[in-house]
Amino acid sequence: MHAIKLVADWSPRPGYAITPAETKAGKARMACHVFKNPRLEPVVVPDPSPGAGEVVVRVRACGVCGSDTHAIETDAQGYMIFSGPASFPCILGHEYAGDVVAVGAGVRNLREGDLVTAEGMLYCGVCEACRKGMFNQCVRLDMVGFSSHGAYAEYVQVHERHCWSLNRLADKLGSAQAACEHGALVEPVGCSYNGMFVSAGGMIPGSHVAVFGCGPIGLGAIALARATGAATIIAFDVSQARLDAALRLGADQAYNPITLARDGGSSPSALMRELSDGWGSDMVVEAAGAAIQTMPEIEQALAPGGKVVYLGRTGERAPVMLDVLVSGASKIVGARGHAGGGVYPQIVRMMEHGVLDLGALISHRMPLSEAAPGVDRSRSREDSKIMLVADPDAPSQGAAPAAWSRV
Ligand SMILES: [Zn+2]
Ligand SMILES: [Zn+2]
Repeated sequence: MHAIKLVADWSPRPGYAITPAETKAGKARMACHVFKNPRLEPVVVPDPSPGAGEVVVRVRACGVCGSDTHAIETDAQGYMIFSGPASFPCILGHEYAGDVVAVGAGVRNLREGDLVTAEGMLYCGVCEACRKGMFNQCVRLDMVGFSSHGAYAEYVQVHERHCWSLNRLADKLGSAQAACEHGALVEPVGCSYNGMFVSAGGMIPGSHVAVFGCGPIGLGAIALARATGAATIIAFDVSQARLDAALRLGADQAYNPITLARDGGSSPSALMRELSDGWGSDMVVEAAGAAIQTMPEIEQALAPGGKVVYLGRTGERAPVMLDVLVSGASKIVGARGHAGGGVYPQIVRMMEHGVLDLGALISHRMPLSEAAPGVDRSRSREDSKIMLVADPDAPSQGAAPAAWSRV
């Protein structure tokens, strides 16, 4: 099959305490301190075949994630920006859906022809974190597309325990392809759901919600807040295209804090107070990864009992006025990932029953064979989601379309 591999040089950063286990496995705990000079390479590799308990999924749709963007971007020393665990070379791509084309021994719940989407966090199931139900905190976590081969490829091999059916969603949408495109969005939106509802314990209907950062995670948070009864939703981002997407997905107001400051407009915290009649925001989702800028605004406009769901990633320390948490009996909750907690099936169910429509998240479609130009396009950070879609009539074997070999 054809695929796009990310290749990078193993070169631990001076000062990074590499462990013997990392060296032995060739798997870095933090890719940004170990891998240099990342590049995408087209490859032809044998078609996967399913092991016991596994299926092979023919990829019909795969989203381009900000993590993929971070994996090809580098800092001044040439190290990749992506900070998660990784083992390169690896076929990139983790937000995917498709149809089951081969079923391994002992698979109980899936059969050939089923449409599925699959979790990207491959938890081990036996470490203490897993056995406490904290699958996203698995100590042996593998991530599809970073330490286990991903879906910028014609096929992916995956254990059935990570797969969720999209058959009913296809019935609802009247199209297998549409179900796969919506199904591929469960991964990023699952991170929002996991943070807001599993880790932070949710919000009550009638809440005022603020979202900082309108990439796919922030946009997912907006759609989920609207679907679950938020009274008001205010959104902030520095890209006009993403602010437009925020309004399409259900935000009442959307602002660019940089142009506001330049034009002498109100601060984000003042706007949060204004929209909530002075009460403040009951739930704030930080999906910008810009804590140094966002936390001072958030702490000025957090409602009593408010929750800050911190989903962005930054390696920087941010000063936070913790007294706000004391006086307001408020909390800051961190979260990552989307595994466990019923996240995947609940989101699919919301889509099946018309409670949640994520279609407006997709801002651009490209052929799956153009995964490499797709990742390149994502560097502009203007799209809300680039969706790579397979040509259903393409032969699964034989000569590559020109694009698979173009990087
Ligand atoms: Zn992702
Ligand atoms: Zn585990």
